[in-house]
Amino acid sequence: MAPRLTVVVSQGRSNHPQKRQLEEQIVAQLLGSPRIEVTVIPHLYDLQPEGTGVLCLRGISGSMVVLSWLYPRAAFWVLDRHGIRGHRGQTQLRQGDDSGEEEDFPDESPTSEDPASETTPERGPVPDRWIYCLDLRVADDPGAFVEEIHRIAQECSARAEQQSQPSSAPTNGQGMQTLVALSLPAESDNSSEGASGSLSPPSPNDSQPRRVEESGPRRWYPVIDYSRCTNCLECLDFCLFGVYGVDGHQNIVVQQPDNCRKGCPACSRVCPAGAIIFPEHKTPAIAGADTGQETGLKIDLSKLFGAPDALELAVEERDRELVAAGREAVGMSVGVPKRQAGKPPAARDELDDLIDAVDELEL
Ligand code: SF4
Ligand code: SF4
Repeated sequence: MAPRLTVVVSQGRSNHPQKRQLEEQIVAQLLGSPRIEVTVIPHLYDLQPEGTGVLCLRGISGSMVVLSWLYPRAAFWVLDRHGIRGHRGQTQLRQGDDSGEEEDFPDESPTSEDPASETTPERGPVPDRWIYCLDLRVADDPGAFVEEIHRIAQECSARAEQQSQPSSAPTNGQGMQTLVALSLPAESDNSSEGASGSLSPPSPNDSQPRRVEESGPRRWYPVIDYSRCTNCLECLDFCLFGVYGVDGHQNIVVQQPDNCRKGCPACSRVCPAGAIIFPEHKTPAIAGADTGQETGLKIDLSKLFGAPDALELAVEERDRELVAAGREAVGMSVGVPKRQAGKPPAARDELDDLIDAVDELEL
């Protein structure tokens, strides 16, 4: 029998009644399905490093669907930083799916070329399971999410069945071995103090979801998309608040996340790979949008992040935070990416207009 699929519903930060209603309607419609078990957690991004929510998620060994009020790429890499890893599954649920409108979005069907699915040698093998992240903002109709979750459950069953055939080839060099996420080391973190929480016992008859209660402050920290990161270490040089560090293999890690200055996204603008995500930033490109589908704008992220204006803005933002912290502004004199230092300011062009348009979007 195929393993059950775990559906994790990450609640919104606020108790907005419409948001809570959508979350609870989805949960209610999934309960009782023999192939699915449901867990409800507080806002994924705010979970404490060794808190109840993270421990609960690490205890899920099979494939999972995570619904949150975040872009799927952001949610996937937030999970990764907590040591919850797997191949990234692609959803067929698109913006406006419950309105019947057709939109011209890029094909996102699953592919073995998906960079997030590949093994990154320095970070160890990817566990043989799939993680699908769905953005709760793409539809108002709970049925659209439920339908997609059942499709994913089917996809996972078919995959498990195929793998159980004696002739089928291993998908990642691990054969049928499943690596339990609990055993994976997460990045070091400094924010577990003050966290408290509880976990409801598994429901014996699936009439109730498992609910994780965890209280803690709202958090703000960068999340690295390792499928894009080239380990150039420019963020390490640029950040003057000690947020970044390197691990034993000299790979960039977010070492002191809660040293990050609330609301500031400066280093995401200097990352040449567009690999730094601030999931709660209002600008989609910084918050982890990976296509133009959420905004209707087709955004070239590499151009956006690499724009000369972006560097000036990042330096301004960093200076503002330095001064707010009682330190001296440093301008361009410290940690400015070598590739951009000394470049004359470029004349305003259509890219500047695009950046302004994106910044003005209220999501
Ligand atoms: S600047 Fe970007 S690409 Fe370079 S190490 Fe940091 S996250 Fe990785
Ligand atoms: S936003 Fe600022 S404080 Fe936070 S990690 Fe980036 S450079 Fe450091």
